[in-house]
Amino acid sequence: MKFMNEDFARVDVLIVGAGPAGLAAAITAKRLQPQWSVCVIDKGAAPGNHGLSGAVLEADCLARLLDPVDPAWRESKAAQGVLGERVAIDDVLLLSRHGALQLRPLLKLAKLLGLGYGRMVHEGDYICSVSRLSAWLAEVAGGLGVEVLPGFAAAEILWDQAAARAVGVRLADSGRDHAGEPQVNFRAGETISAAAVLLAEGCDGLLSEQFVVRAGLKRRSEQLYSLGVKELIRVSDEQYQKFTAARVVHAMGYPLWTPLVGPDIFGGGILYPMGENRIAAGIIAGLDYRYHDFNPQDALTLFKAHPTVAEYLAGGTVVEAGAKMIPEGGIYAVPRCPDTGAIGKGNVLLLGDSAGLVNMLKIKGLHNAILSGIAAAEALAANVTVGTSSKTPAAVAGGNGGKPETAAAGGGGGVCAPAAVGAGFANKLAQSYTANLEKAGVLVEMDEARNFRQAIARFGTSLGLMLAVFGRLLAHFRPGPDYSHLHRSAYPHKPERPFDKDAFTAKSGTGHREEEPCHLLIADPALCRERCREHFGAPCVTFCPAGVYEEIGDQPKPANPSNCLHCKTCQRKCPYDNIRWTVPEGGEGPRYSTM
Ligand SMILES: Cc1cc2nc3c(=O)[nH]c(=O)nc-3n(C[C@H](O)[C@H](O)[C@H](O)COP(=O)(O)OP(=O)(O)OC[C@H]3O[C@@H](n4cnc5c(N)ncnc54)[C@H](O)[C@@H]3O)c2cc1C
Ligand code: SF4
Ligand code: SF4
Repeated sequence: MKFMNEDFARVDVLIVGAGPAGLAAAITAKRLQPQWSVCVIDKGAAPGNHGLSGAVLEADCLARLLDPVDPAWRESKAAQGVLGERVAIDDVLLLSRHGALQLRPLLKLAKLLGLGYGRMVHEGDYICSVSRLSAWLAEVAGGLGVEVLPGFAAAEILWDQAAARAVGVRLADSGRDHAGEPQVNFRAGETISAAAVLLAEGCDGLLSEQFVVRAGLKRRSEQLYSLGVKELIRVSDEQYQKFTAARVVHAMGYPLWTPLVGPDIFGGGILYPMGENRIAAGIIAGLDYRYHDFNPQDALTLFKAHPTVAEYLAGGTVVEAGAKMIPEGGIYAVPRCPDTGAIGKGNVLLLGDSAGLVNMLKIKGLHNAILSGIAAAEALAANVTVGTSSKTPAAVAGGNGGKPETAAAGGGGGVCAPAAVGAGFANKLAQSYTANLEKAGVLVEMDEARNFRQAIARFGTSLGLMLAVFGRLLAHFRPGPDYSHLHRSAYPHKPERPFDKDAFTAKSGTGHREEEPCHLLIADPALCRERCREHFGAPCVTFCPAGVYEEIGDQPKPANPSNCLHCKTCQRKCPYDNIRWTVPEGGEGPRYSTM
């Protein structure tokens, strides 16, 4: 991966991550300052390939993003194809092993009374797929002149400690062999320098977490995560019509949680209609669970077999599958500069899931991701310092390690405008961004949900849900990181057959070059062998949704890294904090199209 002309390696605004947050930032930045070079890189082979969500999307954020670009956007074929139906039937169920209690009237009452749980009402929201949403927003951004470059994996943020600013971003190397030695096709990761760097990598971002440490940002509480495992299932005409195309189901209780008797895992099941007779079925399980042998995919099997769910899914065919984490810690887990309180520092801002802007009372993060992108771009436009550069445009070659994916990423097809911002962005950029987040209502709604997830992680689901009603009034609970909650206890429900992880992984379309170095690093393999196996039974072998980890002899190891779904669960749930996820070559990983 080598840029043909070093001029390309400097842009005005570099955005890492072509998800809703990064693309909203790119669209708004280019709209406000068309002369800027705005570049979005993404490690997926195409925009949306690494996006996985529910998804129920609040409508207003799209109007804020797209009305100034094209007031007629709603009528476009692309928008209508991506946004599908609006939620008309909003089921919230409490499941027992065989029955289901409808909670919708209670939540509507909570909404009327202004209680937090009323936020869980989704009527009027769009039902969509985030992979398709991102692919569409990438087209909108491209139409405005943004360079969207899939197949570019960012490996490191280059932080200048003395200047308290980022110089840019270093891309991942490509063409190394298993042992890390350069092969004939080796290309060292290029550096892209930028006047401003927006980190929109999604949950548990690699550069985002490097930045938090290097720039000294602090969280008031540990970030807490959940894992979502999801299948897109094609069902019969009859089943789809019975489910209806405008209905969403959120289910609590079985198989994750049964009050008093257990099990006790925060989360639940989802069912969303996705058009063309397809229903998305998923389980979202809080990673603060205690059971050493718990596999969220087993819970998905049990959820699908529940009588209330099975009537819509039985006999269906899985056409796509995948897994991704959600940052659930809320406002207390948002990293901030200790001096200014800003969600960023110098010329670097944290957006969307990289900042942790998911509202767990709504179980939604898409709207905040988009609003954070708009807020970041508006802050950039308001804080640029005077001065322009006169460099000419330059070509860029082979961003995806030679894999022929898109014109933008492959074979010198991409062209990026040169840097126009001379002196850069004012130092109060991050404060300005944070103030914009406040004005847009993002931090206000995050604040309303404060302590919600912490109460559950600290006291368990039953007591935690009760305490969470008054969560804002109570002292701030500080649960430990997810991995610290693991015990030797066993998950009580087991499906009849072990989950077929190979079939699941095959439906994600994931792949990695077999010869490249393993991107999953085990800090101390002896710990796996000598302590973890005996104490916890090597839980990575069980919880990894892609079956990457295996016991070979007496040594648990990431034996199948090419199956990895980039969900990063292993980095957060290994009980000895013994795994580090690093970024593989660009253009690899899952290839979701409707997740
Ligand atoms: C199972 C599940 C269900 C959900 N349901 C809903 C819902 O119904 N409604 C809702 O509003 N929200 C929901 N969410 C949350 C929502 O999906 C996220 O909040 C939202 O996608 C965040 O957008 P983002 O742009 O910040 O990150 P992402 O959508 O994760 O995008 C990040 C992008 O960055 C790229 N990237 C990451 N690291 C690098 C790197 N090092 N180099 C280059 N590129 C990189 C990735 O490839 C990806 O394309 C759900 C999430 C999950 C997992
Ligand atoms: S990687 Fe972590 S979870 Fe897996 S065996 Fe080693 S210590 Fe245990
Ligand atoms: S190896 Fe880690 S990041 Fe990859 S799929 Fe398994 S748990 Fe997720």
